[in-house]
Amino acid sequence: MTNEIAYKTSAGVCNDIDKQEINRVPSGGSERIVQLRALIDRYNYQYYVQDQPTVADAEYDGLFRELQTLEGRYPELLLSDSPTQRVGSAPLKSFVEVSHQTPMLSLNNAFSSDEVRAFDKRIRETLGLDTVEYAVELKFDGLAINLSYRNGIFVQGATRGDGSTGEDVTENLRTIRSLPLRLADALGHVFNADIEVRGEVLMSTRDFEILNAQQLIKGEKAFVNPRNAAAGSLRQLDSSITAQRRLSFYAYAIGGCTVVDLPDCQSAQMDLLQHWGMPVATFRRVVTGVDGLLEFYREMGAQRATLPFGIDGVVYKVNDLALQRQLGFVARAPRFAIAHKFPAEEALTTLLDIDVQVGRTGALTPVARLAPVFVGGVTVTNATLHNEDEIRRKDVRVGDTVIVRRAGDVIPEVVASVKAQRCADAQEFIMPLVCPVCGSHVTRELDESAWRCTGGLFCPAQRKQALLHFASRRAMNIDGLGDKLVDQLVEAHLLHTPADLYRLNMEHVASLARMGEKSASNLLDAIAQSRKTTLARFIFSLGIRNVGESTAKDLARHFGNLDSLMAADAECLQQVQEVGPVVATSMVNFFAESHNLEVIKQLRTLGVFWTEQTVQRDLPLAGKTFVLTGTLASLSRIDAQTALEAMGARVSGSVSKKTDYVVAGVESGSKLEKARQLNINVLTEDEFIKLIKGT
Ligand code: NAD
Repeated sequence: MTNEIAYKTSAGVCNDIDKQEINRVPSGGSERIVQLRALIDRYNYQYYVQDQPTVADAEYDGLFRELQTLEGRYPELLLSDSPTQRVGSAPLKSFVEVSHQTPMLSLNNAFSSDEVRAFDKRIRETLGLDTVEYAVELKFDGLAINLSYRNGIFVQGATRGDGSTGEDVTENLRTIRSLPLRLADALGHVFNADIEVRGEVLMSTRDFEILNAQQLIKGEKAFVNPRNAAAGSLRQLDSSITAQRRLSFYAYAIGGCTVVDLPDCQSAQMDLLQHWGMPVATFRRVVTGVDGLLEFYREMGAQRATLPFGIDGVVYKVNDLALQRQLGFVARAPRFAIAHKFPAEEALTTLLDIDVQVGRTGALTPVARLAPVFVGGVTVTNATLHNEDEIRRKDVRVGDTVIVRRAGDVIPEVVASVKAQRCADAQEFIMPLVCPVCGSHVTRELDESAWRCTGGLFCPAQRKQALLHFASRRAMNIDGLGDKLVDQLVEAHLLHTPADLYRLNMEHVASLARMGEKSASNLLDAIAQSRKTTLARFIFSLGIRNVGESTAKDLARHFGNLDSLMAADAECLQQVQEVGPVVATSMVNFFAESHNLEVIKQLRTLGVFWTEQTVQRDLPLAGKTFVLTGTLASLSRIDAQTALEAMGARVSGSVSKKTDYVVAGVESGSKLEKARQLNINVLTEDEFIKLIKGT
């Protein structure tokens, strides 16, 4: 019902109201109208002039419709300066003003299929036609611009402003690469006439993300969305700033032209602009009747998330320009066109609390618990806050009114808080000092935004990940212990830490669903066999952050036994080749966590063992790095690597200045070439065999 009234008024059919309602303005009705006008004027100023909206578009649209409905019901209260009768906001005085030759209007909106059907019905009835042909286009989510060309040369560009007067942003527009400074066709012929082209300046989603990241580095305020970023970037007094922001332009109408025989329909005029080098979106077509409109809406809705730039709906325009003229205009919008809006991707709600979730890798993510809000087509109660820095940057506090965004299938996020509505008792967020799941300490590495739980071997949130890594082929190599089995064992409460693997017996394993006796016994054998391992594999299996297989080997070679490794401080650890401050800090944190030490102790008690390794410095090829390339005739790659590692050498996959030898077999390729360029010793297979035998 509300929509129906709003539709009638938004289409400018104010006379349609129930005459009996006139002069029956209830006390409070006029007050609300005054209140709404003041509120909308304020939001318009923040949005159009300051490029800093403080409310979500859906909230604004709701207030706007409420005002239209009230003014429709009580037309004696309708004033010519009401925001429902005007476009945008007056231009900023700091820009030179430009008067538009023909007004730049807004569009009426439809939010449902019923409203679109009503639009089509009204058009058909007014024109006395059975069906109408429409040009259907994307509704770009940027800011409207008028471009003036004299004899095909770009001479002036202006913002929409209040519809009749805009701001001169010519120099800023010149910095937009996709905007032609001269209208010419593919053969280089120039469009030799005067023309006004209307279109939208946008910022792509990717450029928006890059810009916001840069703003953050510079300690400046991030933009709320690409539309604001585009508007803020274009409405700069210094065009060198605009030049640094990557903006694009798409044309959607001709405002006026000195050519008398222009095509007489919207779609052909767009083809003409395209022919003369104007960027025009490829997603547009001509359809007949309301079904064609709704089909285009559905198609574009499905593709919306994959487009490189934002659209907030689609636009339907009567294609025939003579019919457009016949339909004419209402106060602020044409009657012949309507914007069919997509569900709002942003909405306002209250931040009830901030919880901290621990992911499979131990990263702590603050999650906003929200008062339920309908956004992007679903009801949202949780949204990510990414990390602690984001919360600080956005200054989001528990109790705040926040803007929540849900675009496509992307996880909903809190975009900003509305400072103007902050209560005195809004609570600042404090990151917990220990993991909320297991109580282990949390740490944050240099250059990392996430805090992480250090209890990798013990933390239930990381349990499955830790177990799978522990059992993987290059770690403890427990054949047959995959994803599904780990899930089953964890869910049956049989596995808490890797140590529990060595406590499993036939009864436990055979009790699992779909587990035959043979498979159970194979699994138990594989677990039993994994008890005998190497120090390098054991270190790798602990899943210490930043400690990969090759670092684990370096550590094993350097320290020779686990106790020395566990006792080493960061400085001592950094004496190992390839171990820098980041790896050293991860290791110190890991071994400082008593939960992890307990699991390691249990693993050893339960029979996991390895032969203590000869310390690297005593080995003949200690400190040397080899790269193997091509095919060796007398031994396999793995054997060659094992032989080298047994002598204390490192084997790396790529050639760098740090490489000591490249062993080149048959059909060596780019690695050999690189070795020659870097002047690195190259060994033939014979020389290599001699070297390992000789040493
Ligand atoms: P609009 O954006 O809803 O529609 C009109 C505009 O659409 C035109 O001026 C044009 O620039 C653009 N457009 C994009 N593609 C087009 C195409 N293919 N053909 C023709 N025009 C096309 O109207 P508006 O008056 O610019 O803005 C109103 C909207 O802005 C509101 O509905 C609201 O969502 C938002 N707004 C928000 C706030 C806030 O505080 N959050 C304040 C003011 C306005």
